Amino acid sequence: DKTLHIVGGGMAGSEAAWQASHLGVDVVLHEMRPKVETFAHQTGDFAEMVCSNSFRSDDDEQNAVGLLHWEMRQADGLIMATADQHRLPAGGALAVDRDAFSAAVTEKLRARDNIRVEYGEISDLPADGNWIFATGPLTSPALGEAIARETGAERLAFFDAIAPIVYADTINMDVAWAQSRYDKGETEEEQKAYLNCPMTKDQYEAFIDALLAADKTEFHEGETATYFDGCLPIEVMAERGRETLRFGPMKPVGLTNAHDPENKPYAVVQLRRDNALGTLFNIVGFQTKMKYGAQAEVFKTIPGLEDASFARLGGIHRNTFMNSPTLLDNQMRLNSRRNLRFAGQVTGVEGYVESAAMGLLAGRLAAAEILGLDLPTVPQDTAMGALIHHITGGAEAKTFQPMNVNFGLFQPVDGLKGGRRGRKDRYKAYTDRAKTEWSDWLSNFA
Ligand code: FAD
Repeated sequence: DKTLHIVGGGMAGSEAAWQASHLGVDVVLHEMRPKVETFAHQTGDFAEMVCSNSFRSDDDEQNAVGLLHWEMRQADGLIMATADQHRLPAGGALAVDRDAFSAAVTEKLRARDNIRVEYGEISDLPADGNWIFATGPLTSPALGEAIARETGAERLAFFDAIAPIVYADTINMDVAWAQSRYDKGETEEEQKAYLNCPMTKDQYEAFIDALLAADKTEFHEGETATYFDGCLPIEVMAERGRETLRFGPMKPVGLTNAHDPENKPYAVVQLRRDNALGTLFNIVGFQTKMKYGAQAEVFKTIPGLEDASFARLGGIHRNTFMNSPTLLDNQMRLNSRRNLRFAGQVTGVEGYVESAAMGLLAGRLAAAEILGLDLPTVPQDTAMGALIHHITGGAEAKTFQPMNVNFGLFQPVDGLKGGRRGRKDRYKAYTDRAKTEWSDWLSNFA
């Protein structure tokens, strides 16, 4: 059977259906809304924007999200074309009239001869046929259980507790030093796997005060505010007692400050490598519900992070996502059942744009497989490729958390490594390289 079934008519599923349909593949699009609702969606339309009405930066020379926009437009993406038609003035951002946008996406998909829409929940993983599951952060509970049965429960998360991620080259190594606690590890690389930022007693006390005073976000209605004990937000730990963090993620034991071996730090903030390239580090145990502005302010008081720039800030949200690095192959197929692909936020990307982008890829990859088209792998130096590579292999599986697209996921541009040229030049070089490679890859479909 050459039909492609797509489950979920959100950002990813809508784009996947559009792409496969245009490549001549028959599609059945399964959507549970409006029959079965989620706590966030308000309508029965496809590609509903559940919160903000922005697709973020549209700058395709200096911004990784803007580059993703560009790559999707090149591939005749439905989400971008429709966003462009319903654009609202928003400076450099691509913001849209959300109702008009989703209504138009719905209409365009329904107008396709080779797309059939079936309303209803899919609650199991089918044994046969070609499928893409794009059921998003609010995947229905029954399907979530079915996925957990297939993958093992420990490889499917229902919340994300995100620690902030810092660009490695913005950490001040005159203050921070590389060392694993008790120098643990077989190799020197492992013994120096963490970066450590020391605090004096005064700095620690000031940091706790800042945490307690910071603006926090509340949970959305319908989200359960029960934290797993292993992932309490740091400000909640600080509320439980001023010393809690110093005996938790900020404990100073087993560490010697390489810049000042005589002075034992009162507390230590540890950062752990977040990707194979070593360009990103997460702050260990620092999941938080502080507002973004407050986070940037508070984290920059950490010695060594004064000039830190963040690839993403922390958060805790209801979010169903799988441990893709261990579960999916480089075409987003489940290793254990290659007839099933996953796409969108459930694979561990985060955001409307990233989800739509992964839907676009999944739609094209599935269609190519059905049509017997031999494709080279998606080039890693494109925004699409950087993302798919990260979720299906580049990310550290043990600490895998949902990811936004950012230049830290790209292989450094030859000759520009080490910051010899300014950031603007470097970003332009990333985007130039990506555009060439993406156009080349798309020509395989011509
Ligand atoms: P979705 O767009 O959620 O689409 C999944 C679809 O699958 C839904 O239509 C759902 O009804 C359907 N579905 C689920 N289970 C089944 C089933 N078993 N059978 C059939 N259909 C099913 N991102 C941003 O960029 N900006 C924001 O401001 C933002 N705010 C958010 C606020 C909340 C409360 C949440 C939960 C998420 C938010 N996100 C935001 C993330 C955003 O939802 C996703 O990035 C994006 O919508 C994901 O696209 P997707 O296609 O993977 O999932």
